[in-house]
Amino acid sequence: MSENFETIAIRTQTERSSHKEHSSAIYLTSSYKFDDAEEMRALFANEKEGNVYSRYSNPNTSEFIEKMCLLEGAEDGFATATGMASIFTTFGAFLKSGDHIVSSRSVFGSTHQLLTTVFSKWGVTFDYADLDKPQDWEVLIKPNTRIIFVETPSNPGIDVIDLEFLAGLAKKHKVLFVVDNCFATPYLQQPIKLGADISIHSATKYIDGQGRVLGGIILGSKALISEVITFARHSGPSLSPFNAWILSKSLETLAVRMDRHCENALKVAEYLENHPQIKLVKYPFLPSHPQYEIAKKQMKQGGGIVTIVVKGGIAGARKFMDGLKMFSISANLADTRSIATHPATSTHSKLTEEQRLEVGIEQGSVRLSIGLEHVDDILKDIEDALNS
Ligand SMILES: *Cc1c(COP(=O)(O)O)cnc(C)c1O
Repeated sequence: MSENFETIAIRTQTERSSHKEHSSAIYLTSSYKFDDAEEMRALFANEKEGNVYSRYSNPNTSEFIEKMCLLEGAEDGFATATGMASIFTTFGAFLKSGDHIVSSRSVFGSTHQLLTTVFSKWGVTFDYADLDKPQDWEVLIKPNTRIIFVETPSNPGIDVIDLEFLAGLAKKHKVLFVVDNCFATPYLQQPIKLGADISIHSATKYIDGQGRVLGGIILGSKALISEVITFARHSGPSLSPFNAWILSKSLETLAVRMDRHCENALKVAEYLENHPQIKLVKYPFLPSHPQYEIAKKQMKQGGGIVTIVVKGGIAGARKFMDGLKMFSISANLADTRSIATHPATSTHSKLTEEQRLEVGIEQGSVRLSIGLEHVDDILKDIEDALNS
């Protein structure tokens, strides 16, 4: 098999049936039939490999997992119904009461809720560290710290931290290093190759990339994923075969989609950087980005998300958003359609103003998920909205 991303994403496939279908078939089956009682025994005793029940494995989820492992340089993986199920399953598999997590402060809203309301109830504590202050991370590691968790680039602040640096800290203190790689996708950033133990994706975002299905995946070494599987098999967060089929098909076009998302987003970022009505533009591949050098080192391109601060606070942000004719106003991201979100009153409305400012969200912040429409139309929509 080729080592090239595009070829792996397209040519990794499950065995074909006697119909010789070109595209993978969909295996909508909850269970599997055994040749005889002995085969049933052997499969349950793990003496033989094969499908037993779709909560454990299914040909469509296996194909999706195999592709993702090859694309990200992981030995094994487990696919889940949503990105949050992947994060919950990872925490659930490795944490026990009394453990501690050091996490980036800027994490997906539901991850913040898991840490503050769910795991705290079970005696797991955490501390937040900032992506732009790498010197703070080691100080927060305690004897009971079990996981370092990070999202880079962050949502919606678009801050970046050096993954090799955090991997070094994790190794030194013998803790697990877990990365939420959702914003970058395996095409732009491969955390495991940079020293991460576990890489997690919300496949709902760029991996589907067309706003259709939810999904998630956990990738890592055989040994770590076997612990994840033990927890997952009995807690039941498995990805549906149909969604796995969609996601595996979507991977076939991930590289071309990401190239265009990134190309369009960079043009938008460059255009907005010099606009008199814009106070700030955050995009990893703009030389003005504070961690530009780190982004260049660990990411292939800058991604599809541009976060801006419109002058005039919340009124300015709202006027801009309401002036957009083509962009959708939605809380989702990573779609073929360009989307504008006002984080302070939607995805991050549960935070206090002070907490929001700590993660770089101002009242005037607008997160732009740059889609795959023609870039001239994207730029014109933005320009008209700013002039409105
Ligand atoms: C969307 C998202 C998640 C959660 O994924 P779901 O599939 O919606 O559960 C987790 N992390 C990041 C960075 C996300 O953007």
